[in-house]
Amino acid sequence: MTSQKTRSPSTPHRPSRGNRDFRKRTQPGGNSPGEKNNSNRSSTPRNAPQFATGPATAQPCILLKAGREKSLLRRHPWIFSGAVERVDGAPAGGDTLAVRDHTGEFLAWAAFNPDSQITARVWSWREQENIGKEFFGDRISNSLAARSGLDFARNSNGMRLIHAESNGLPGLIVDRYGDVLVMQIGSAGPEHWRETIADILQELCKPVCIYERSDSDSRGLEGLQPRNGVLRGVLPENVEVIENGLRFNVDVAAGQKTGFYLDQRDNRALTGTLAKDKDVLNCFCYTGGFSLHALRGGAKSVLSIDASEEALFIAAENLTRNGLDAGKAEWLEADVFQALRTLRDQNRKFDLIILDPPKFAPTAAFAEKAARGYKDINLLAFKLLRPGGLLCTYSCSGGISEDLFQKIIAGAALDAGVDAQIIHYLHASADHPVLLSFPEGAYLKGLVLRVAS
Ligand code: SAH
Repeated sequence: MTSQKTRSPSTPHRPSRGNRDFRKRTQPGGNSPGEKNNSNRSSTPRNAPQFATGPATAQPCILLKAGREKSLLRRHPWIFSGAVERVDGAPAGGDTLAVRDHTGEFLAWAAFNPDSQITARVWSWREQENIGKEFFGDRISNSLAARSGLDFARNSNGMRLIHAESNGLPGLIVDRYGDVLVMQIGSAGPEHWRETIADILQELCKPVCIYERSDSDSRGLEGLQPRNGVLRGVLPENVEVIENGLRFNVDVAAGQKTGFYLDQRDNRALTGTLAKDKDVLNCFCYTGGFSLHALRGGAKSVLSIDASEEALFIAAENLTRNGLDAGKAEWLEADVFQALRTLRDQNRKFDLIILDPPKFAPTAAFAEKAARGYKDINLLAFKLLRPGGLLCTYSCSGGISEDLFQKIIAGAALDAGVDAQIIHYLHASADHPVLLSFPEGAYLKGLVLRVAS
């Protein structure tokens, strides 16, 4: 393993070591560890509310401002603080509250979080629903059943089992790596119900371990403390995931996110089919997912770059684990923004380049700055490609739409002086579904481009 430490310590994109959540793909949430009975809708209010306007209600609830019910009527599951007229009662973070329009009409049951910009996230649109063990049992069973027909199970044993809002469970991610489950909680609702959720997962999936990785940076924004540890069972010393027949070590305790980026499974398989006899450059390689697929696909050489020493260590180990030719692989610990410039100055050329950076724009507010970052790396990549070369480029920024991403790439090609065609439009794999009423779920977009010969 070559480990040239060319990274610049001053780069704004350089991650810290270990568990920084570079690509968190769901929004975070609220407060309140531990388990409580959450069926408070039949209880009396704990504090007598002071009504400024609007009708009095018999239970703690969230009353919206006039006209601010529109997004809920379209079944968007978030209630932003700006839409809230008042909160009746004295609910705690994680409590289930009825959300009502300004006339008092029921809209939804939602998990409350006074510490978040997103005051509540919807559990259910049905007034008769009882948010409790049975409700979570049904939602989790449905989520598992929806995945049972996905055919990648034949040569992969990693799968996202629960994809938060898109599976009707806002703030809850559950990834499966063989017989280990990793759970990540990002909002007050699932934080409140975590023991119930863990019991249900244990009963339905019978894993050897449920490990909790609720330690993303974004939890702080929701007033939640980080938590990282075993929730059920015992963590095996070596956790492995098989993806498209390749074996990867997954560091569930200290790796990024829940340990592995399952959303790129299909796109990695595609890379394998494009790599034969090519000189490949894999930027932001993490534990080598795209690199190993390229090598197995017959790549002539693969240069892989990442800023994380830990990730590169595992990547090199993964290569050996799969019996692939280490002589064709070069690993570089560096800041990609710097490394691409160095490669350009060295006049290095590649036939296939992969750019899979961390999230530059969590929301649209960061889009402009993020756009500059995407343009920069894509422009440099276009310049490093040989005529007829391929660029596989991704964005996992919720704040960058597919349309905007394509425009940024078009601008980069223009400035690099290359003509290019799109040959594939790519997204996350099928175990990361997108709820139609929650377009924020469509965070991952990718393009494969061929530059003119
Ligand atoms: N392509 C990977 C996932 C990439 S996640 C896969 O298939 O698994 C993003 C990666 O970018 C992380 O591994 C992180 O360490 C790395 N990273 C973040 N900023 C970076 C920078 N400026 N230069 C190099 N690597 C960076």
